[in-house]
Amino acid sequence: MKHRVSSVMVGAPGLYTYGAMRVGGVIRDTGFHPTITRDLSRLHGERIFLSLYSTLHLLDPAIKETVRRIQHEGGECIIGGPVSSGPDMVLGELHPDLVICGEGEDAVRHIMNGGEYPDCPNCAFSADDGIVKTEQRRVQDLSFPLPLIPDDIGTQDIRGAQTYIETHRGCFGRCGFCQVPRVFGRKIRSRELEEILREVRAFQKKGVRRLALIGGTGSLYRSRDGEVNSGAFISLLEGISSIMGPKNVSCPDIRADCLTDEVLEAVHANTIGWIFFGIESGSEKIIDLMQKGIPIDKVRDAVEKCRQFGVRPAGSFITGYPGEEDEDFQATKDLMEELSLDDVFVSIAEPIPSTPLAEEVCKRMPEDDLVRIPHTGEYAGLHLTEAEARAFDLMLHADMCRPVPRITQDTQYRIYLDEARKQGSDIRNVTRLLRQYYPG
Ligand code: SF4
Repeated sequence: MKHRVSSVMVGAPGLYTYGAMRVGGVIRDTGFHPTITRDLSRLHGERIFLSLYSTLHLLDPAIKETVRRIQHEGGECIIGGPVSSGPDMVLGELHPDLVICGEGEDAVRHIMNGGEYPDCPNCAFSADDGIVKTEQRRVQDLSFPLPLIPDDIGTQDIRGAQTYIETHRGCFGRCGFCQVPRVFGRKIRSRELEEILREVRAFQKKGVRRLALIGGTGSLYRSRDGEVNSGAFISLLEGISSIMGPKNVSCPDIRADCLTDEVLEAVHANTIGWIFFGIESGSEKIIDLMQKGIPIDKVRDAVEKCRQFGVRPAGSFITGYPGEEDEDFQATKDLMEELSLDDVFVSIAEPIPSTPLAEEVCKRMPEDDLVRIPHTGEYAGLHLTEAEARAFDLMLHADMCRPVPRITQDTQYRIYLDEARKQGSDIRNVTRLLRQYYPG
């Protein structure tokens, strides 16, 4: 048995993530008094749980230094969060004592109750003869203690909300770029409504004015076999909006094939009235390569339905997916124009560890990678790669395709250009890391 630690902290860089707050709540439930911070320089103590949500964190000198400092001060550093899908990378780049992989609640309890690493589920750690990975299992009962909510949560702003909350886990989808079905499985496991509402009240009491529902599958709460449970979803939104007020709730992400009239009525009546669809591409070929499983006509219907119910449709698009050719990209631009969405989010395909996209990218030759190929077309003078140029072009195009077209001014033009360049650079760095640890 390990000795009982006296000081425990939880941290996440720059944000109080829901995962970090959840971990804090589980630790407190084991009889400790953890504190939570989003300022890494404040992390000191005998045991530190660090929640990392971006693969880029593995390359961040400030985070590397934080882990080194914690250990130098005699602390134990345990890393979890979305980066844990690539435990070899986490151990190789940051050298923490332990990585908690995937759903971490059982592992956190095990460690806090004095358990040893080799007996801890969902973990990876370095041993003399290499990396040890323990049994992976999913949490069966999504019944959790209240999260550890910091006093200044009200100062946080994540796209207008102070926090996200979790209502269920899993997605029956298979999108090749997404971690959700790999980490949480394809079967939906839902939390009890009363527990969710208790949590909402606790967040509100601490100063949260607007909250959003986590994940790409809002309306799948209490669904079975891909069938939307409209009644359960309506009760969920009504319950949350009765506490927060309808203008302070957002349920941004819903699959285009998981909409019913009742769902749309509930979104209109109980939320800020927006839905963000993961549209990704206007090319059926790319939709198939992504294993999106939602035909483009279904997206057209969903956008049309939103407008009938007074809900504002928005969408995310991914460009630079392996196999995307000029005509596929043009099909995406055409679809964007046809749908005339109220808002658009554009990203270059990011190979997140553990996803089919990451495997595909690792198998490909670097010179076939759109994020590396120099762009020679319309924006040649801007020295972009092909994926960057496509992302930049889509951002500009989105402005012109709004219901009321927007002329892109110089400042916005510069913001889009910087954003496209940054995404390209970030993805090249992530890809380099993936190829190093998971050669195809
Ligand atoms: S529908 Fe959304 S959450 Fe589900 S697999 Fe696709 S991207 Fe992920």
